[in-house]
Amino acid sequence: MRTSQYLLSTMKETPADAEIISHQLMLRAGMVRRLASGLYTWLPSGLRVLRKVEQIVREEMNKAGAIEVLMPVVQHAELWQESGRWEKMDAELLRFKDRHQRDFVLGPTHEEVITDLVRKEISSYKQLPINLYQIQTKFRDERRPRFGVMRAREFLMKDAYSFHLSQESLQQTYDAMYQAYCNIFTRLGLDFRPVLADTGAIGGSMSHEFHVLAASGEDAIVFSDSSDYAANIEKAEALPPQGTRPAATQAKAEVATPNAKTIDEVSALLKVDASAIAKTLIVYGRKADDKAPQTLVALVLRGDHELNEIKAEKHPLVASPLQFASEDEVQAITGAKPGSVGPVGLTIPVIVDHAAAHLADFVTGANKDGFHFTGVNFDRDITTYQVADLRNVVEGDPSPCGQGKLVIRRGIEVGHIFQLGERYSAAMKAGVLNEEGKHQIMTMGCYGVGVSRIVAAAIEQNHDEYGIKWPVAIAPFQVAIVPMNMHKSVRIQDAAEQLYKELTDAGFEVLFDDRKERPGVMFADMELLGVPYQIIVGERNLDEQKVELKNRLSGEKLMLSLSDVVAQLK
Ligand code: ATP
Ligand code: MG
Ligand code: MG
Ligand code: MG
Repeated sequence: MRTSQYLLSTMKETPADAEIISHQLMLRAGMVRRLASGLYTWLPSGLRVLRKVEQIVREEMNKAGAIEVLMPVVQHAELWQESGRWEKMDAELLRFKDRHQRDFVLGPTHEEVITDLVRKEISSYKQLPINLYQIQTKFRDERRPRFGVMRAREFLMKDAYSFHLSQESLQQTYDAMYQAYCNIFTRLGLDFRPVLADTGAIGGSMSHEFHVLAASGEDAIVFSDSSDYAANIEKAEALPPQGTRPAATQAKAEVATPNAKTIDEVSALLKVDASAIAKTLIVYGRKADDKAPQTLVALVLRGDHELNEIKAEKHPLVASPLQFASEDEVQAITGAKPGSVGPVGLTIPVIVDHAAAHLADFVTGANKDGFHFTGVNFDRDITTYQVADLRNVVEGDPSPCGQGKLVIRRGIEVGHIFQLGERYSAAMKAGVLNEEGKHQIMTMGCYGVGVSRIVAAAIEQNHDEYGIKWPVAIAPFQVAIVPMNMHKSVRIQDAAEQLYKELTDAGFEVLFDDRKERPGVMFADMELLGVPYQIIVGERNLDEQKVELKNRLSGEKLMLSLSDVVAQLK
């Protein structure tokens, strides 16, 4: 590829609205452009990376015996009514009507469609087990799309669904998928961890998430420093009650989360069983030096059941017996100083889901209820404490598995596998004739990979101050040819053209920078784009028939004879 005929679209300045490094670099390197909130166009370089990730995922799925299909993005409402999710899903499910006033959704996931397909196409135990997957666009109307393609509304997912007649068979496929995921993330060159996960709204029994470790990750994961125990903090097992911790880690707990309370403490304060409803306790407070301090506390509800109940109420944000709390109660919960707590009566809204985002809208008045705090900047004024605080999981605590001490890291969820059981197949009556000739409901597994999210996650782990450092397996190009002042020298032009031909013929993906640009501009762009190998063609080295080979990952530079370049890169 010649840059003169390509859409490079790099930019020098860091875009102001991009909060995390991968988002900044994806914009600066010309990989994506924002169309609207959570909606992105993939530019040529970004698309090349996306396709490579997709291909690695596809190869490993095929190797593990899964079979590729492609289902529609648009799905009719009847299927969702059959599974019961039409009522249960919140606004993340984008619903719309066609010209005949029939209800449709943009698929956020495809359990309903695949179950419908399989119940129609598969009738005998002889056709099982089967594992079908697709790599398809998903749409989720995320409350707070952010971090570019990391949390987009439209994104690319690999989703697989397996069907079985026994738990053993499901377990076998689940294990095969677990292994396939390990292969995928290893081939992608990422530092990742599989962790035990909550099954959440999708339901089912066993579940693992795959996390790419990165400080910007939205999840906290907990693992033992000397065993395989690893869990999403939402799933972390019961920890030693306060007081039984070694003194040092107890002290750390108090320093790390000065205002945190355990579920038991909150239950006692509010005179309710908070453990039954609270998944996360989030304490929000304005900075102490603010003239009009306001504090509020949100309890995030757990599970579908409560979601329904809350929705039925008049005001989903505050419809709950917990909506009112006295100033004293808020002070007790937050540890706030007397007098620093804001308006009483509105102090404990119960947030249905996506608590932080709901609350952001709520506080800044973006929801239409006109019920809101004035002059509050959510990101500036509000502190959120996650489950970690509530559960009081602390680094250095003994691991629940009995071996080693706990380590806590941030993770980006890039994959998620579930044993669904009969959650969908029973509701949608998906069964086959078993060996005894009797109709039997199938049991299911489902397996997701965030293909587009992986691109951003890979950058979070692989960058420096000059730009992206792609793992070779997913780099948009493997080699860049950077000729210096080519337009003034026939000799340089000839050498660069020759290299371009040889490398391309040898199967490399080459970006040939044939623009009339200053060398400095060309170097900066290739570093930013993160091409793993750069070949610099300059007058002085050509006197000895040599070029410079630079390794973007290690920074190493090597002088090579023109005739040795291809062999060296192979
Ligand atoms: P999250 O907790 O980040 O909201 P999720 O648990 O809702 O993700 P799943 O339903 O498990 O997501 O979907 C499978 C995979 O799809 C996730 O592991 C993630 O990698 C990816 N994914 C989910 N939501 C998004 C999104 N809004 N943008 C990009 N990728 C996403
Ligand atoms: Mg989600
Ligand atoms: Mg999740
Ligand atoms: Mg998930």
